[in-house]
Amino acid sequence: MLRDKRFRLGVLILLMGVIPARGDIESRPHVMIVGVNGMEWDIVRPLLLRGELPNLAKVIQRGVYGKMRTLSAPNCPKVYSSIATSTPPEENGITGFVVAGKTASTDMLKREPLWSILSKHGVTVGMANVPATFPVMPLNGYMISGMLTRGKGCEDGLLCSPKLSEVKGREAVYPPRMVAELETNVGDFWIDCSRMPSAEELKGKEAEVIDHWLQQVSQVRAKQAKLFDYLLKHHRTDFTMFVQSCEDRVGHWLYPIQPYNAGYDPALHSVRVDAFPDQYRAFDQVLGKVLQHVDKTTYLFIISDHGIKPLREFEEGRRLYHSTHDHGGNTPIIAKHDFEDGDDVPGIFLAMGPSIKRDVRLMGFTVSVFDIAPTILSLYGIRQPTQMKGRVLTEIFEATGSQPTEASAR
Ligand SMILES: [Zn+2]
Repeated sequence: MLRDKRFRLGVLILLMGVIPARGDIESRPHVMIVGVNGMEWDIVRPLLLRGELPNLAKVIQRGVYGKMRTLSAPNCPKVYSSIATSTPPEENGITGFVVAGKTASTDMLKREPLWSILSKHGVTVGMANVPATFPVMPLNGYMISGMLTRGKGCEDGLLCSPKLSEVKGREAVYPPRMVAELETNVGDFWIDCSRMPSAEELKGKEAEVIDHWLQQVSQVRAKQAKLFDYLLKHHRTDFTMFVQSCEDRVGHWLYPIQPYNAGYDPALHSVRVDAFPDQYRAFDQVLGKVLQHVDKTTYLFIISDHGIKPLREFEEGRRLYHSTHDHGGNTPIIAKHDFEDGDDVPGIFLAMGPSIKRDVRLMGFTVSVFDIAPTILSLYGIRQPTQMKGRVLTEIFEATGSQPTEASAR
């Protein structure tokens, strides 16, 4: 915890102007990370082949793409905290949705996250809806919290969806003065995706309840897209990181499974077989808007913390976090990601930018969740802190001599 306080203090001092905050602003690279929770190649690939994800296809053509190795029994708070700190959960303190009986929060974080290191180096940072960033922390820019935000009707912060106006105090937005600005220009918005309906709610009116819930999901995404667009237009930062969560939520209980899969119920799973692929079609539209803010000098990374796969009968005896039910314990799920072997549910990695190779597929598991932070730091010429477990992904860059190298970044 000592270390924790020290990095918070560092950012505060920086913001008070004691440390010179900015160097040459113009020469600083523009880097954007778009996270899509649980983005799954098995679903995305056929859509790409059919030309149904034109924006994602553009990024693939102009960059490198492949799988991303994730953690064992991956879930969003755990993996995003490992991405941000490049350290394993047992070191950074965020071991899951719940840590020692309490919903994970930023004051449990024991290793310095990427946004704090960047802030200290004068890089401006903008973040929205990144899991496990509640309560928000001071940084050289803005932060709007994401998954695990607590609020009215979502007191435990677990897989539910408070609106900005329903969060107590000003813990969802930094700086606090930005709340009023967002309310005026974006309107009230959901911080995370909706909780799934319970088995009780579904009983006998499955199609109707599923449709109603999917409409809610569309509204959550539309508002989120409006928020992202507003932030990109009016608060351009050197480093920007946005995350979407509805894809994962839909995948958990509406994955297009077959009658032979574990947990198949025709009343639920033959109703909206396109619901999960539709989430990626909708994401592609959001990506199209984001791409309008990506110029030739921008590095864009699209990542998912893990994939998601149908349940496997032989493994369901052991109950892990999401297993067989959502966290509320009352919604049956038919796909999950907390398989003990994380290599069964790899995440997605795509990168595009000025010195990044074009149309290159990364085979196997060369990229891991630990490599994101060191690679981003290297783009700003910031030395990788010794506690970081990952490496700079030198192989994604063209050999022009100007790209970051592990030696120069260390
Ligand atoms: Zn999930």
